[in-house]
Amino acid sequence: MSCKVVLAQSISASYREELKNTVKDRNIRPKLVGFLANDDPAAAKYAEWTAKTCAETGIEFELRKCLRNELENKIVEANQDSAVHGIMVYYPVFGDRQDQYLQNVVDVGKDVEGLHHKYVYNMYHNIRFLDQAQTKKCIIPCTPLGLVKVMEYVGVYNGILPYGNRLHGRVVTIINRSEIVGRPLAALLANDGAKVYSVDINGIQEFHRGVGLKLKKHEVTETTLKIEDVLPLSDVVITGVPTPSYKVPSDLIRDGAVCINFSTFKNFDADEIKKKASIYVPAVGKVTVAMLERNLVRLYDYQIQESTV
Ligand code: NAD
Repeated sequence: MSCKVVLAQSISASYREELKNTVKDRNIRPKLVGFLANDDPAAAKYAEWTAKTCAETGIEFELRKCLRNELENKIVEANQDSAVHGIMVYYPVFGDRQDQYLQNVVDVGKDVEGLHHKYVYNMYHNIRFLDQAQTKKCIIPCTPLGLVKVMEYVGVYNGILPYGNRLHGRVVTIINRSEIVGRPLAALLANDGAKVYSVDINGIQEFHRGVGLKLKKHEVTETTLKIEDVLPLSDVVITGVPTPSYKVPSDLIRDGAVCINFSTFKNFDADEIKKKASIYVPAVGKVTVAMLERNLVRLYDYQIQESTV
């Protein structure tokens, strides 16, 4: 078997090193506040990782636990506190549209997760900067951004092509179309030039910028395709199905494909996928946390710039 297994630890190492050096060399101490208002063990684990990684990098992290009905006021307090540079919330809190409302209560200038409507809108519309002079990059949601970094690291992005078109010619299947990861990821990759098959329990959509990347931003079309049609065509297969029993059918994967799992559960049968894939990334959590910190430093800089204008 010639499959190379690439761990999130290796992918995130250079980002963590860069962050550590930035914080040390510039003698800054950006502060991130995380709000935990649920009993989800996965959220508690994520908070634990965030605390550990921030401590290693030199970023101040404070976990604030509260009741879900107190959360909105707690967020407003943190929005108004100039000692807090970044805010994140461990979702789901209410598990419905109220969570979407809370995402927009977080001050856009402190939203390290990039979940505020302004960032989400800009991402879908391929608007990459916050200002006309193009000095301030938009914040991109951490997990989709982390997956882009995974794909850059393993060489799916082609550095010879111009920025913004580096996935031209690549075919990617994403099994998950959640609003938090799968749909934004499909849009990001299609905006970068890929043809993306976005799979969910109800069917498959195609995200693309057309032949020769003639469109400035991606468009979406409905298809009648099935997973057995798209997997054999895909250079990259990314999966995030939150079910322990779900396994991507390895026999349908193209020989030499890049296979990436972001679900908490192992969506690929490790032994089987190693017989087919050229590269297998079993998990990405550490890259997500590195992106969270990177977004924090970016927002910290924007706040400093604004306070000195
Ligand atoms: P979700 O429940 O909101 O979405 C699940 C998606 O998978 C939906 O689009 C659904 O239609 C699709 N799906 C479910 N079963 C399917 C099937 N059999 N075939 C095709 N599609 C199917 O979940 P989510 O918030 O997107 O999280 C998904 C997983 O990713 C979870 O395990 C979560 O813990 C993990 N996650 C990891 C990170 C990270 O950084 N590693 C970040 C966020 C979420």
